[in-house]
Amino acid sequence: MQKDTQSGGCGCGAVRFTVTGKPKFVSICHCTDCRHYTGAVFSTFAGFLEHQVIWQGKEYATHTSSPGVKRGFCACCGTPLFYQGERWAGETHLYVGAFDNPESMTPQGPPGEVFQHEKISWVKV
Ligand SMILES: [Zn+2]
Ligand SMILES: [Zn+2]
Repeated sequence: MQKDTQSGGCGCGAVRFTVTGKPKFVSICHCTDCRHYTGAVFSTFAGFLEHQVIWQGKEYATHTSSPGVKRGFCACCGTPLFYQGERWAGETHLYVGAFDNPESMTPQGPPGEVFQHEKISWVKV
């Protein structure tokens, strides 16, 4: 495998992805929507252009969480996989936790930490 590719996938292994090149950003989102759609107290996203992401295995399912916002997940096991918003047309924001090697996805701004006003007070990043 090439050095600049990274892979990841859902918990059951049905949906897999490979990304090529560096993410545009790695940011942390403290919004309430992300909490509810992941069950985690905050989310970390790596933003890629759609053409950098190759999907393999079973097709992911999507849910429109608000107008123009699509969240992708595994239809078998429910693992949240990505976020796509009209505001960031042509981009796929993958959950860093879905990567096989998230260690390499260090948060780096901008945008840094977003939705700080919805952040849980005891969360320390
Ligand atoms: Zn799965
Ligand atoms: Zn969010």
